[in-house]
Amino acid sequence: MNESILLIEDEQALRTTLSDRLRAERYIVDTAADGNEGFDKASNQPFDLVILDVMLPGRSGLDVCREIRAAGMATPIMILTVRNETVDKVVGLKLGADDYVTKPFEAAELLARVEVLLRRVPVHAGKGLHQFGAIRVDVRQAQVTRDGKPVYLTAREFQLLRYLIERPGATIPRDELLRSVWGYNAEMFTRTVDTHVFSLRQKIEENQKTPELILTVPGVGYKFVGRGKA
Ligand code: CA
Repeated sequence: MNESILLIEDEQALRTTLSDRLRAERYIVDTAADGNEGFDKASNQPFDLVILDVMLPGRSGLDVCREIRAAGMATPIMILTVRNETVDKVVGLKLGADDYVTKPFEAAELLARVEVLLRRVPVHAGKGLHQFGAIRVDVRQAQVTRDGKPVYLTAREFQLLRYLIERPGATIPRDELLRSVWGYNAEMFTRTVDTHVFSLRQKIEENQKTPELILTVPGVGYKFVGRGKA
C-alpha cells in the first residue's frame, strides 16, 4: 500500500526536490503551491499525510492547519518552519499539527519523520464508518462528527480512538496503546495515554465524568464499549 502525501510549499525548488525524494520512496505525492489550493486539495481528497509550509501566499500554513482540524479531519500534519520561528512551531502544534521540521533540513531527516508519522496510521482497506449515538467516525477520511458537526481531533487522538474502536470490548493495556499508537517503548510515558484519553473524552463523550464509550480499566488500561452500527 503506497501512502499518499500532500505537499503544500510555495518555493518551487524545494517543492520539486522534496516531491522527487518522496516519490523515490514510493509515496504518492500531490502538491500545492499556495495555502488556498492546499486547503482545497486537503479537504477534497483523503491523504495519509500533509506536509505544510508555514509561510505561504494566499492562506498561511497555520490557517490551513487550523481549518483542516476545524473541518474534523485528523490527517497527520507536519509543518515546515524556518529556523528560530519557535512561535510558529508552538502555535502549529497547538493548532493540531503533529510534528514539525525546521528549514533548512536534510531530506533524510524529513523522510525519517514522515515514516514515523505514517507508521502510526496503519492503512486498513475497507474499514469505513462507525456510528456511536451522535458520534460518527469515518476512518477513511479520518473524520469525526457529532450530530453532523465536525469534532476537532488531533491525528494522535484520532489514531487512539480508532485503535480502541477497532478492538471493541477488549481491555487494552496502556503500554500496548503506547507501542501501537505512538511507537514508544518506554513505560515512563504511560501518562501520555491518560492525557490523550482525557482530551478524547472531552470531545466525544456526552458527559466526560461518566464516560459511555471509553472506560477505564483500573490498573490496566482502557476499553472501548460503544455499541456501534456501521
Ligand atoms: Ca514558504
